[in-house]
Amino acid sequence: MKRILLNRFLNIFFPETCPVCQGPAREHKTAPICSGCWEGISPYEGPSCRRCGKPLVSDVATICGECLQDEPAFTKAVSFGLYEGVLKKAISLLKFYGMKRLSKPLSDIILQIELPQADAVVPVPLNEKRLRQREFNQSALLAKNLAESRGIPVVLNCLVRTRDTRQQVGLNSRDRRKNIKKAFDVKQKELIAGKNIMLVDDVVTTGATVRECARVLKKAGVENIYVITLAHGMME
Ligand SMILES: [Zn+2]
Ligand SMILES: [Zn+2]
Repeated sequence: MKRILLNRFLNIFFPETCPVCQGPAREHKTAPICSGCWEGISPYEGPSCRRCGKPLVSDVATICGECLQDEPAFTKAVSFGLYEGVLKKAISLLKFYGMKRLSKPLSDIILQIELPQADAVVPVPLNEKRLRQREFNQSALLAKNLAESRGIPVVLNCLVRTRDTRQQVGLNSRDRRKNIKKAFDVKQKELIAGKNIMLVDDVVTTGATVRECARVLKKAGVENIYVITLAHGMME
């Protein structure tokens, strides 16, 4: 508490420099990102797959090729925005620079999505090695805040990683799926069986991870799985 007050005090006199516009970040809640830049974070409103949420180039198709070919186990997946600009910056500050305080304003952004009725929130688990390096799972932080705002429980340690996987970055869609196969398991099935859950992650790229999570959750008896993510990344 003392530290929070001290930080607040310091911020008034020595505001942090916004990494986006280099201006002063006086808004404590979103610092070091200034309120002007933060307010510029906007939802993606272009065409997207109505099943997996993947942005589509044309709005003629309503469902993407991948979903047509291989129906996902989740009912629907939605992302707030694109993984770019200020949103990308904020997510990386949370994830790679350990700025946990950004998890709250970031989960408030999720609340702008039209969310489904769900009984519980489950985060996508981080692999052990990365959890040790990072000391926290950003998806669990987002899931906790989201659950609190919605007045429903967050279920941790139910969906777990069974093995560490290679970094997904740099792998193509097929290799990502192969890489992630059998990487998850469900413990204490009774906590989620027959329920509707929101599966939360920060960024979704090919969707290989959330597809695999949804597969094991469905197998464990979950009724409906809604994947909720902050941002949709593009394959590099
Ligand atoms: Zn700024
Ligand atoms: Zn799709």
